[in-house]
Amino acid sequence: MTRGVVYAEPGSRPAVEEIVLDPPGAREVQVRIEASGLCHSDVHVVETEGWGMRFPILLGHEGAGVVEEVGGEVTGLAPGDRVVIAWRASCGECPQCLRGDPRRCSSWPRAKRRLHRAADGALLSPVLRAGTFADRTIVHEACVVRVPEELPVEQACLLACGFSTGVGAALWSTPVRPGSTVAVIGCGGVGLAVVQGARLAGAERIVAVDVAAEKLEAARGLGATDTVDATAGDPVVQVRELTGGTGVEFAFSAIGAATGLAQAVRMCAYAGTATLVGVPSPGATLDVDLDADVFAPKISLAVTHGGDTLPQEDFPFLARAALDGRLDLGRFVSSVISLDEVPDRLERLGQGGEIRAVVRL
Ligand SMILES: [Zn+2]
Ligand SMILES: [Zn+2]
Repeated sequence: MTRGVVYAEPGSRPAVEEIVLDPPGAREVQVRIEASGLCHSDVHVVETEGWGMRFPILLGHEGAGVVEEVGGEVTGLAPGDRVVIAWRASCGECPQCLRGDPRRCSSWPRAKRRLHRAADGALLSPVLRAGTFADRTIVHEACVVRVPEELPVEQACLLACGFSTGVGAALWSTPVRPGSTVAVIGCGGVGLAVVQGARLAGAERIVAVDVAAEKLEAARGLGATDTVDATAGDPVVQVRELTGGTGVEFAFSAIGAATGLAQAVRMCAYAGTATLVGVPSPGATLDVDLDADVFAPKISLAVTHGGDTLPQEDFPFLARAALDGRLDLGRFVSSVISLDEVPDRLERLGQGGEIRAVVRL
């Protein structure tokens, strides 16, 4: 029996239901999910009443597990392989891929819809082509990435979204230069991963900004050299004071509110880069002075989608970095829960100092 967390219709509450699977088709892979992280994008799906997807929806997109069955034409994967499911892999055919920039691919490979609700047979739409709050799912082979067995599966699943989004923002979207100065606004799971990425990239100073003392403490433990309590005054002023008035070369906004990106722009040094990490709140707009805040100081504005990773290269790299201690992935797993707890936990995601809750299946 396969069970999954289904968001049945707009306004309904996600619930655990029985689901049934068709066999995987050509270039598709059936994965037995062993662990899946709770990421804010699943909450976003509920808050936006489907995020443009067809109902019913199978939630979850941060999963790892074991290959159970491969469809035709699948190469390089076999039953028993420990894998992480990437929600974005590059297609090789879109304008960005064709011009040699696959990190900015806009046409992510997807499997056909193969999962149904047991109750009425309706086809499920898996969130971000993944659908990992389930014992099993079926995904495109390009999204299935082998990782070392030694990495605990509760940690491996975090490579699929939040952790690689944050680390990748600092390593690949807007690569932090060794010796540079960085600010990270918002120290939830993704922001803390930006801190880790900036440290791995060799940043000399990493200023963590948040309103919660426990998150700032966590940031220090993961590589932040300075912290700014955003409740104690304008964080832009505080970051500028910390940097002798100069500002930072790289500022990352890892909060949904638009104020984070505006602050990131305004705390950049001359020719600095402000990067938007994570999905903004619906309707959020950017309020900055285009001359004083952007043109005169020559600020670049960038967006990362999931850290702009090339999963087949980057996930194994991140896994090795976690295994040899260059990245502290274990610290990101703050609780391990069951599938039945997911609907409740989604409603209070990120509260009470939680970094990442992980479902163990
Ligand atoms: Zn592409
Ligand atoms: Zn996510």
